Amino acid sequence: METIEVEHYTREEKDEMIHNNMEYVLFSWLKQKGINPLNIDYAKGVYLYDYDGKRHIDFSSGLMNVNIGHGNQRVTEAVMRQMQKVSYITPSCMTKVRGDLGKKLAEICPGKLNKAFFTLCGSTTIENAIKVARLHTGRHKILGRYQSYHGSTYGVMSAGGDPRKLSADSQQAPNFVHFDIPTAYRWPYGEEALLKEAVLHLERVIAFEGPENIAGILLEGESGSSGCLKYPVGYLKKVREICDKHGILLIIDEVMSGFGRTGKWFGFQHHDIVPDMIGMAKGLTSGYIPFGCLMVTEEIAAKYDDVVLPLGLTYSAHPVACAAALEVLQIYEDENLIENAVKMGKYVELKVSEMQKKHPSIGEFRNTGLLGCIELVKNRETKEPMAPFNARPAEMAVMNQVAAKIKELGMYTFVRWNYIFVAPPLCVTTDEIDEGLDIISQAIAIADQYVN
Ligand code: PMP
Repeated sequence: METIEVEHYTREEKDEMIHNNMEYVLFSWLKQKGINPLNIDYAKGVYLYDYDGKRHIDFSSGLMNVNIGHGNQRVTEAVMRQMQKVSYITPSCMTKVRGDLGKKLAEICPGKLNKAFFTLCGSTTIENAIKVARLHTGRHKILGRYQSYHGSTYGVMSAGGDPRKLSADSQQAPNFVHFDIPTAYRWPYGEEALLKEAVLHLERVIAFEGPENIAGILLEGESGSSGCLKYPVGYLKKVREICDKHGILLIIDEVMSGFGRTGKWFGFQHHDIVPDMIGMAKGLTSGYIPFGCLMVTEEIAAKYDDVVLPLGLTYSAHPVACAAALEVLQIYEDENLIENAVKMGKYVELKVSEMQKKHPSIGEFRNTGLLGCIELVKNRETKEPMAPFNARPAEMAVMNQVAAKIKELGMYTFVRWNYIFVAPPLCVTTDEIDEGLDIISQAIAIADQYVN
């Protein structure tokens, strides 16, 4: 392992760093005053180090994107090599890295998903997926799940069902329709009835909206930031059938669940389906460089053989991002990271089930591989959440204490409503999982006191 030159900062330097951040920069999804965001100087493997040299174990891989772990010098070198050759060229030009990456992704993706349109991030990927679906079908409506997240730009925020969008901007883009997918945890009538209800509900929504108006159904490969909500068993297969019946395109958003996070290349591969489009970002470059990709079928791409493809971004197919992605994809294979995600996912399941005996506030742990979250409840019988979905600040009092304890004990992870995410980098070891879960266990002890 390479050694990192650790810098030592004076008190004045640290104060200046904090001052400049708080004075001149806006922080996403936070109120701007009275906050104390983690400061990070450098990172290695599953650990982040702050300006005081304190170590924080990263249990959400940044925002579930740093799948290969932090500080991998192979990516740094690949990026430097590409930058020395050509750091930018317009998207209408060819480069070796662009072609090689397209070929590699076509090999990874199933079926006829062989054409890559490179984007900048998750949001720009899904925006383009929506556009392609509308162009391809000549229809205008997009159906999405209530409890889902597809990005924060105007169109994708409207497509997602994340409640923050309503408080932030109630003027939604038109022609997005939402449907519900009930989940097993709060469904009292058994799995078979759950699947039936979910499918009937979707069919009713389609009938009301008019199938001839619906361009695409947009779903996460595996649910992520809405709480790793499991699909009813067999649900995505039924959705695939419904799409085929009505000529609706199935767009699967693998921005979070892609690239080994769930123990397979893509989350949808747990459900035995092949979508018409796959949205990728995050794990594609493991967050080393912002990047995204929309993979479409040959049939969809063929429409533009003789017609101009009306998609474009100045930084599409950025050569440096392509070089980073190619190296990251190779690292997944060389370091057997996807296999490790399967093993470590099982280890986490085992360990959390032991924790559950000790902590009455743990309602459920839901995961697929290393995309997981612990849901805290006030009461296991009623399943009343420790903080409600889309909680107001006053309702977050207990969860805020839990989050503060997690931070104090040296962990960074994503805590949202009553969910604590367990999604470390795929290179994580059992010792590191033990260390992280021990911190979470100490923090959850606070929530236990509020169980009634
Ligand atoms: N889709 C999914 C499933 C996501 O989880 C996210 C980000 N969390 C996005 C899209 C948006 O990605 P970005 O923040 O890179 O725009």
